[in-house]
Amino acid sequence: MAEGDRCTFCTQRPREEVAIARWRPPTPEDQERLTLWLCGRHMERLAKAGIRGWAHEGWMHKAGWW
Ligand SMILES: [Zn+2]
Repeated sequence: MAEGDRCTFCTQRPREEVAIARWRPPTPEDQERLTLWLCGRHMERLAKAGIRGWAHEGWMHKAGWW
């Protein structure tokens, strides 16, 4: 399956490739910077979670590298 065919978090078609910072709680200072393909629903979810981050499979995620 080619990158960008699917949202990183579900089986939907992705809308955009988004800059994402992720970390393992409780160490938010160790952030990994990735670009992930996300569907509209998951882009919204991350937008709503804001800087607190959105939890998924043991990782916290937030939009943006800053
Ligand atoms: Zn999704």
